[in-house]
Amino acid sequence: MSYAGLPSAKLSPEFSAGGCASHPPKILDGKTLSRTVGRTVAAEAAVVTKKVGRAPGLAVILVGENPASKTYVASKHRFAKECGLVTFDTHLPASTTKEELAAVIQGYNNNDLVDGILLQLPLPAPLDGAEFVRMIAPEKDADGLHPMNQGLLLQGAPAPRPCTPLGVMTMLDLAMSNVTLSDTTTLADLPAASLAGKKAVVIGRSQLVGKPMGFLLLERNATVTFAHSKTPDLPAVCREADVLVAAVGVPRLVTKNFVKPGAIVLDVGINRLPDGKLCGDVDYEDVAPVSSAITPVPGGVGPMTVAMLISNTLQNFKRKHGLTA
Ligand code: NAP
Repeated sequence: MSYAGLPSAKLSPEFSAGGCASHPPKILDGKTLSRTVGRTVAAEAAVVTKKVGRAPGLAVILVGENPASKTYVASKHRFAKECGLVTFDTHLPASTTKEELAAVIQGYNNNDLVDGILLQLPLPAPLDGAEFVRMIAPEKDADGLHPMNQGLLLQGAPAPRPCTPLGVMTMLDLAMSNVTLSDTTTLADLPAASLAGKKAVVIGRSQLVGKPMGFLLLERNATVTFAHSKTPDLPAVCREADVLVAAVGVPRLVTKNFVKPGAIVLDVGINRLPDGKLCGDVDYEDVAPVSSAITPVPGGVGPMTVAMLISNTLQNFKRKHGLTA
C-alpha cells in the first residue's frame, strides 16, 4: 500500500466481503481496534525510542474552554502516554491573541523534542483554525490537515494523512479481513484491503473528512463517488456502493433504502440529539441488518481518530530520523 501512516500492512487480495446481508453484520468496534493501533504504536515506539535515544513527542494546543474539546484533548494525551510518547500541553485562554497563539505554534515548530503538533479545533472566535493550521510545520502536522500534506495526499506521496479518514480505512481493513481482534492482535495482522473493482460512495466533501476520505479510497483502487448536499437522488447514488462512508452531520440520514444489501457502512457522523445522546449519520438499527459490516456511534470511528493522531506522530518521528521502511 502507499503510505497510510501505519506500519507493516500488506495489501490483501481483493475482498469478497460485501456479500451476504442474510448473515449478521460484522460490528466494527472502534474501541477495540483503537487498542490494536495503540499496541502496534507502543511496540514500535519502544524500538525507535531506543534507537534514537528519545521518545516521539506530541504537543497538544487547546484554546478556550469548550467542554467537548477538553475531553478530546484529555483522551489524546492519555492515549499518547499509554503508547510511550512524551506529551507537551498548552492550554490558552479564549482571549488569546493571534500573535500569542502564533508564538506557541512557532515554539513547538522549533522544539526538537516535538514530532507532532495538534491544534484542537474549533478555535474560539475570532481565531480562524485554517490560518493557524497553516502555521504548523508540515512535517510536524499530527492531524494531516496542513495544505502541503493535503497536496501530498493528492500526489500519493508520503505525508501525514488526515486522522479520521485514516481511521476509517483501518476499520475497512478489519471489515474485509477474517481477523478477530484479541489482546495480542497488531496492525501487522490486518492486511490493507484492496478495493479494486469495488464502488465506494462518500457522502460529504469537507476538507476534514469527505475529500481526504475519497482519496484514501482511491489509493486502494476503489471507484469513488463524492455525494453532497447538491446530489440529486442521494439514496440511489448510495445504493451503488460496496463501501458507503457517511460524513455529513445529519442525524440518521442514511436509512436502509440508501444501502445495497451486503455493503460495508462506515459512519463518521457524531451528532448530539436533543435528549443529549449521540448518534451517527446512519440509522444504525435500520441499516445494520442489510449491511455486511457497520460502525456503531459512539464507539466506532471516534476512538480511531485519536489512535491515528498518535500513529501519525510516530510516523513523523520515523521520517525525521530516517526510520521509515
Ligand atoms: P461539514 O464540514 O459540515 O461537511 C458536511 C458535508 O456533508 C458537506 O460536504 C455537505 O455538503 C454534506 N451534506 C450536508 N447535508 C447533506 C445532505 N442532506 N445530503 C448530502 N450531503 C449533505 O462536516 P465534517 O467536518 O465533514 O463532519 C461530518 C460529520 O462527521 C459531523 O457529524 C462531524 O461531527 C463528524 N466528525 C466525526 C469525526 C470523528 O472522529 N468520528 C471527526 C470529524 C468529523 P455540501 O458540501 O454540499 O455543503
